[in-house]
Amino acid sequence: MKFIDESTIYVHAGDGGNGCLSFRREKYIPRGGPDGGDGGDGGDVWLVADQGLNTLVDYRYQPRYRAERGMDGSGRQKTGRSGADLELKVPVGTAVIDEDTGELLGDLARPGERLLVAAGGRRGLGNIHFKSSTNRTPRRTTPGTPGETRTLRLQLRVLADVGLLGRPNAGKSTLLSAVSAAHPKVADYPFTTLVPQLGVVDVGGQSGFVMADIPGLIAGAAEGAGLGVRFLKHLTRCRLLMQVVDLLPADTSDPVEAIREVSAELEAFSPALASRERWLVLNKADLLPEDARDAERDRIVSAVGWSGPVYMISGYTGEGTEALVGDARARLDALERESADNPAFAEAEELLRTRVDQEVRERLEAQRRARQAERAEQKHAQNDDDSGDDGPDVFYVP
Ligand code: GDP
Ligand code: MG
Repeated sequence: MKFIDESTIYVHAGDGGNGCLSFRREKYIPRGGPDGGDGGDGGDVWLVADQGLNTLVDYRYQPRYRAERGMDGSGRQKTGRSGADLELKVPVGTAVIDEDTGELLGDLARPGERLLVAAGGRRGLGNIHFKSSTNRTPRRTTPGTPGETRTLRLQLRVLADVGLLGRPNAGKSTLLSAVSAAHPKVADYPFTTLVPQLGVVDVGGQSGFVMADIPGLIAGAAEGAGLGVRFLKHLTRCRLLMQVVDLLPADTSDPVEAIREVSAELEAFSPALASRERWLVLNKADLLPEDARDAERDRIVSAVGWSGPVYMISGYTGEGTEALVGDARARLDALERESADNPAFAEAEELLRTRVDQEVRERLEAQRRARQAERAEQKHAQNDDDSGDDGPDVFYVP
């Protein structure tokens, strides 16, 4: 299945049905009075978080949706049937943004969560409502109001407890497959991981936690170069980040450079995200002679001034990985307890999450604008005709 983490859709709630203009007409009952019924309300459009979905790909192929309109009222005081609501399923972790205003409408973070994105039109009133002592034959009705329309940008972020980040080839995918049942592609060339991979890490009978492997970061990622930045947003929900570093890069560069570079990218992307708890994971220890490892670790740690926890592992031989994930499990549990027991801590965490979300949204928005400007410029340069690429104005009504 194709992994798509962004889509723009158009939703149109159902219009309200019109009120009816009608008079009672029966034998032997002269001047029967008004009997035009009301219209029905238009259907709403809702988004619903569904655990069974993990991609927005369907919305790429089918971006237009319309809920049913309310039926018009009719004679004999008959009210029109209301239009059915339309429920669109989206993966858990989908953020919903109003394309026109840039406003965040909601964040469907829990299974089953629902968000009203376009309200149906209100019913129109039939002429039975307008009878009065002075007007026994009212010819007045009201039309139904139009349903709301909206252009929505859907953004999916994977939900994981621990996020791996690092340069391509640092060994993130190898680590994920060493500690979970996930089988991400592992190879000797950059960007083998083109989509975020998730694995459940089981630590000795305790409940598992989810680890995410995102495509590697290269210099300039936060500015939009390469692929990395598109995926940084997936780290925003992780409580713990692990920065994976190749101790012996094939290009013989100093690992210290890679650490500085990735840290700088993260900082440029979102200072709040960069302030999240982050562990340094020095990988490919098997490539160093055993008696050289401690000295190399000390050298790197003091060169970059790393203040958090540091691990030396080999995803390849499995060395040190058990201690790493065991400690991660313990840390996640401690964080969980702390936020349950200490309201101030929970509040601070929530505040940080809000800041991260905001910074990431701003960053993505800036990139989108830059891309649009670039496209507009290209179009201008080509002196394009007015054919437009909006596609046909077709709505899907299930
Ligand atoms: P990613 O791009 O960070 O996901 O890196 P991969 O997991 O795809 O690994 C890149 C390359 O490094 C592959 O050839 C792996 O076999 C190799 N590799 C990964 N971890 C280790 C390790 O601990 N030791 C050694 N010797 N090679 C490793
Ligand atoms: Mg990979």
